[in-house]
Amino acid sequence: MTTKCKVGGCSSPISPELRDYSLCLDHFLDNVQERCGGLARQLELEGFRNPLRQAATQFIVASAARLARIGTDNPPKNQLARGRLLNAMLLLAELRERFDKAAHKAGA
Ligand SMILES: [Zn+2]
Repeated sequence: MTTKCKVGGCSSPISPELRDYSLCLDHFLDNVQERCGGLARQLELEGFRNPLRQAATQFIVASAARLARIGTDNPPKNQLARGRLLNAMLLLAELRERFDKAAHKAGA
């Protein structure tokens, strides 16, 4: 089993919390950020749909749990990474709020 990040050219080690993602913390955070942006755009373009909300909720819950675990069990040593971790949590919370608002508007 690989213990290196799967992103090409990246040789950062993977922490045990992210082994099943095969991503280092930096690239995991990039991934969370991109998917948050992608889901928000999809919501905007396609409008509220329950399957999209379910996909978003699953992603939010899984990612938030993972981030919380890293934050408590294995918090990054450098300030920048800690800031990025907190920012990713915030993005997830914002995304959830977007979907909640859209659901409310759609009467779902
Ligand atoms: Zn990486």
